[in-house]
Amino acid sequence: MQSANSETGYRLAMHWQQGCSQLHGSRCGPTVSVLPTRVLDVGEEVDEQNAETVNLLLTYGKEDRYTALSHCWGPPAEASKVIVTTTPSLAARQTGILISDLPQNFQDAITVTRRLKIRYLWVDSLCIIQDSASDWSEEAGKMGDYYSRATITLSALCAPTSHSGFLRDRWTEGRQLDLPLQEFENFNIRKVTNPFGLASSPPPLWQRAWVVQERALASRILHFGAEQMYWECRTAVVHEDGWKYSTSVDSPLGPGCSGVLTGKKHVEKVWNTWYKLVEQYSKRTLTKESDRLPALGGLASKFGQLLGSEYLAGLWRVDLIRGLLWTRRNDSNSKVAGYTKGEKYSERRARRILNIEKADSMRPTVTAGIPSWSWAALGGPVNTLPQLVAVCEIEEAKVTLTGPAFLGLVSNGEIKLLGSLVKAEVERFTKPTGPRASLRGFGSLRPVAVMDFVGTRSDSSYFFHVASDKMKYYWLVLELCEGEAGEYHRIGTLCTNNEEQEAMLKIAVNSKVTII
Ligand SMILES: [Zn+2]
Repeated sequence: MQSANSETGYRLAMHWQQGCSQLHGSRCGPTVSVLPTRVLDVGEEVDEQNAETVNLLLTYGKEDRYTALSHCWGPPAEASKVIVTTTPSLAARQTGILISDLPQNFQDAITVTRRLKIRYLWVDSLCIIQDSASDWSEEAGKMGDYYSRATITLSALCAPTSHSGFLRDRWTEGRQLDLPLQEFENFNIRKVTNPFGLASSPPPLWQRAWVVQERALASRILHFGAEQMYWECRTAVVHEDGWKYSTSVDSPLGPGCSGVLTGKKHVEKVWNTWYKLVEQYSKRTLTKESDRLPALGGLASKFGQLLGSEYLAGLWRVDLIRGLLWTRRNDSNSKVAGYTKGEKYSERRARRILNIEKADSMRPTVTAGIPSWSWAALGGPVNTLPQLVAVCEIEEAKVTLTGPAFLGLVSNGEIKLLGSLVKAEVERFTKPTGPRASLRGFGSLRPVAVMDFVGTRSDSSYFFHVASDKMKYYWLVLELCEGEAGEYHRIGTLCTNNEEQEAMLKIAVNSKVTII
């Protein structure tokens, strides 16, 4: 198929944009808005459109149309080669940047912005001063708004690194067929694709954690896929091959989170959308593990406004019980690469377990500063639960912030709970679906807990009853911290049935626990 970088490609993109502003109107938001603090000026006049340089512009509240680039920096070795703006290079960037010095994705974004007759472009690495902690913190806090206000977000869907470029020839599974119909010359037959042509694995861009909010907060996105271009706005999705559907099909990751951020929605739908976003987000990868909470900051800020609650390192004060009961999911670790011919099921199972143990041994138990009760401390995929009935009392919940609250940057945090505590002997083991611990001392009953990590310090653990839901009872698995009287780390979750619950409550002691 012809490259997206063609007259036909740009005509179609312009047509999509015009259709959106004429037919969807305010649902998809204004196309002109206050520009970000800094943008790249790609030139306005026709003769400037071919200029070999662009320059970084300080905007001082000016209003205009602009595009924003959503892209992968790539693995650390590639990411370190990405051109950035730093305090010493700021003045030079303002006088001019040679386009040929930029990574291919940036060059492609400049080309597209010019062809769409838009003058300004926002790219994170050039428009945020990367060596200034204060500028980074301030601009990272506004990033969600920048994607939300952009006339169009350019999504480099098919580019695994900044250097890959996204304006290349596309491939298609279509086949040219000559059909005996005189009014048409030929047809391009292809199978009906899934939304965005998704097959078994998501495109490189959608494996990146930052992109969850870049896409969910954007108003309008022009995706450059390996096969075709896609238009996605808060109302509709259109494929280049003509396939169309309403944005709600891809709930909740699409622009406006299926209307949650734009329309008046039932509060339960807002909560459910938040937890679905956390589940999706937790599967994504980050170049810097320290970005685990900041990369969700734009969405946290929007949901904070909608829910009117305090954000505590990835959880919400008014919904703390549900927030605490996340469970480790083994998506990424459970896959075992390749089959060995003749390999027995038991051997494959053993290999999978070994993979989980290896992955766990490489991961820090708790990401610096993030309390163990936050899903963000795990640094991997989690499941969340629906609304439950709380059975414990929350005495206190607090974090020590080291940046704006919604960025989730904290040096520590603690939650004090009053309720039923059980101490029990456990036997740890690893299943193909992740680490487990079975409880001893309850006769023939063997409740099994889902553990956050493979290792542990002791043979016994503490179980704290947090919530119930019809016939199920939910507990946090805790480990007493060394030297700190009464302080615990969260190390897992346990779900019991009626019989197990009865047996555990018989030996439960009413206690106060502080989880850090
Ligand atoms: Zn629209």
